[in-house]
Amino acid sequence: MPSYELAAKIQALKPYDPIMGNYRIRLDANESFYELPPEVIQKIQKKIGETAFQRYPDPNASQACRAFCQLYGVSEDCVTAANGSDELISILCSCFLEKGEKILTVRPDFSMYSFYGSLYETQIETVSKGESYQLDVDQLISECAARNPRMLIFSNPCNPTSLGITRQEMLRLLRSVSCLVVADEAYMDFWTESVMEDVNDFDHLIILRTCSKALGLAAIRMGFAVTNPKLTQALRAVKSPYNTDSLSQAAAAAVLSEKELYQEHVKGILKSRDQLYTGIQELQKLAPALERVYPTVTNFVMVKIAQAEAVWKELLHRSIAVRWMGEHLRITAGSPDETRTVLAELETILKNT
Ligand SMILES: *Cc1c(COP(=O)(O)O)cnc(C)c1O
Repeated sequence: MPSYELAAKIQALKPYDPIMGNYRIRLDANESFYELPPEVIQKIQKKIGETAFQRYPDPNASQACRAFCQLYGVSEDCVTAANGSDELISILCSCFLEKGEKILTVRPDFSMYSFYGSLYETQIETVSKGESYQLDVDQLISECAARNPRMLIFSNPCNPTSLGITRQEMLRLLRSVSCLVVADEAYMDFWTESVMEDVNDFDHLIILRTCSKALGLAAIRMGFAVTNPKLTQALRAVKSPYNTDSLSQAAAAAVLSEKELYQEHVKGILKSRDQLYTGIQELQKLAPALERVYPTVTNFVMVKIAQAEAVWKELLHRSIAVRWMGEHLRITAGSPDETRTVLAELETILKNT
């Protein structure tokens, strides 16, 4: 029998393999540490009870989009819902370029851009950030001029560095390049520099937002693209028609309607983030192995640390999961208790290495 050969580009791929063990403290995925309050869960349960399960979902996720628009003050003809912002990255990489066209991204940044870019056989190129890891808009402008990409995609604020560029800097970038600019604002709920209010001023700006971080809904997979009506029409036309299901739409609509809860949670997460950040700065005085703590505008902190892998393993051994990336650890702000614990354990580990 002739044998079936996988396409060469997927032969070496391995399924995404996040840390899944049963750890007492999970600070590895930048999730919210808040659980949904019982009354919001009840609201979701009621909506789920009313679902017509034999019917396909609303292809436009209208209720979820409406709640999103009210929360963030954008208009409905500028918003497209998707199965996580991950799906939007996939759609942009697969549909918004002609075969072989170029995507420019930066390094370090979210790995999904190059993952989808290469999977869809685009030409993916990266610009390395300098040692500070601060994104340099002048560098981006000149790289766009020199390399002529069809799309520029990066996260702002950045995962994993936790640094960002201001709205003014983003606007300056937008005025200086002609390619599609995809600003992944997954963490912008924690900062003030969104360009969502500016979408109608540009024909080449797409903003990605997610319910997975500040909104505490990573379980349901819901993300949004915010862009001008013309690009919104294009996105809605190319996405899979029933990309978000009725249950996720119901949960997202319920949670996005809770403005006060949202504000309270963002505030609580930022407070915990500040505790984590100052705690690590204090540790730095005791432990020279902690080489660098980067400033943060998100719900996590990145540190450069000697023997990062060994420290990461020691933390896992103590049932604390953080993200290890080469010379760095990325630590999500947990509950105040979790933050205290991770700081105490880090202190013990660093004293002994
Ligand atoms: C977490 C994260 C997302 C969110 O992806 P979802 O698919 O919506 O969960 C997107 N971009 C970045 C940079 C992230 O860190």
